[in-house]
Amino acid sequence: MDNQLFIYNSLTRKKEEFKALNPPHVGMYVCGPTVYGEAHLGHARPAITFDILFRYLQHLGYKVRYVRNITDVGHLENDQDEGEDKILKKARLESLEPMEVVQYYTNSYHRSMRQLNVLDPSIEPHASGHIIEQQAFIDKIFENGYAYEKNGSVYFDVEKYNKKYKYGILSGRVLEDLQANTRTLDGQDEKKNPFDFALWKKASPQHLMHWPSKWSEGFPGWHLECSTMGTKYLGDEFDIHGGGMDLLFPHHECEIAQSTAANGKSAVRYWMHNNMITLNGQKMGKSLGNAVSLDNFFSGDHKLLAQPYSAMTIRFFILQAHYRGTLDFSNEALISAEKGLERLFRGMDTLEKIRATQDGYKAEQLKQKLYKALNDDLNTPVLISHLFDGLKQINQLKEGKISIDDKNLEELKKLYHDFVINILGLTKEKKEEGSGLTSELIDTILRLRLEAKQNKDFETSDRIRDALSALGIEIKDKKDGSDWEIR
Ligand code: ZN
Repeated sequence: MDNQLFIYNSLTRKKEEFKALNPPHVGMYVCGPTVYGEAHLGHARPAITFDILFRYLQHLGYKVRYVRNITDVGHLENDQDEGEDKILKKARLESLEPMEVVQYYTNSYHRSMRQLNVLDPSIEPHASGHIIEQQAFIDKIFENGYAYEKNGSVYFDVEKYNKKYKYGILSGRVLEDLQANTRTLDGQDEKKNPFDFALWKKASPQHLMHWPSKWSEGFPGWHLECSTMGTKYLGDEFDIHGGGMDLLFPHHECEIAQSTAANGKSAVRYWMHNNMITLNGQKMGKSLGNAVSLDNFFSGDHKLLAQPYSAMTIRFFILQAHYRGTLDFSNEALISAEKGLERLFRGMDTLEKIRATQDGYKAEQLKQKLYKALNDDLNTPVLISHLFDGLKQINQLKEGKISIDDKNLEELKKLYHDFVINILGLTKEKKEEGSGLTSELIDTILRLRLEAKQNKDFETSDRIRDALSALGIEIKDKKDGSDWEIR
């Protein structure tokens, strides 16, 4: 590979040069959604972050097997080992079969992801489809002495594990400190230690989703599915595991413990975590009333939203921040992202109209900058700023202030196509209200105005200018036509 990609590994807390375990193949696992509600912004960020990595690795010539799971069983309220299953709760409230809830919200998630132009993963396994594999995984942990059974439930013995391996290597937490700061919750007295976590839970009589096992009629613990399905499809050791920062502890910490206890080694070489999203400065959450679904954004149908925002505006907005930084959504920021994206596509339209003349502009420097930005831990905001800088040259080329030969023009077009369309995954939208058509319509109107001017019909040409101005479209006259901009 010519391009050396550096990524921030949450495990070592360093930016490291990415080296595939078995090049050109890369195994990548990302924790997908628990399907009990509409897809919202919190789902969009990890999906888009790892979509960029998926696309970029392929662009660099890797063959990527990308596994993103669907959690449809075992994820209990508050991410604890007690409480109601999130999906069962929804099923009870809506008088549905749990699998109806799973199907409905899986469909809704897929729809939103396609609108956001997130590529489908190579494999999308469901936790409920891997019960036998999860039971076999528990057997391995048992054989190695890191699990114990109590009243039909099986727990992971964190204290024992911590003596041989260290628990907390990913989050940097120390077990003794954790223990000192924890109170025992009701119903957790089955555990030897409050930090032990469930591998298998015996189902209570009201619990609808349960499977037979040697321990009890029950269901797997939430953390187990990812260890099981990750290693099933990617091998005992694989390249990249991603997810939101909220999953780092305990979910991913427990995954490391499970894989190490079962197979003697942590399955993952590079851990990557995207940061969280806030909405108007507040953490998103249903209890705060600010959980806005992606469909709400697309329709504009929510009290916090000033207008609808297209899927590409949301995607572009997310990419304008580095994935490890927090990101605050506000109407102002989204409106400016919408304008920025329009400007980018208008620049690309202009690029298509440029004709090569003679040696002049060289695309090489821009190319180096674009790769350097993404190779530096997927720095999409820097990448986007270089793409905007390039628009200035494109305008100069259009105005004939600088020249370009055929080879460099082709290279420049290829760069924009590769980075904007293929890697950032941004596509030009045809909006229903016609703004997708806006560019072409305005260009047509301006051509008519130019004809009027050439015929010395200044009254018509001024009327067209005033009418466009009233719509917020500003016209700048030049000697051979005019430019326009939406204010
Ligand atoms: Zn997971």
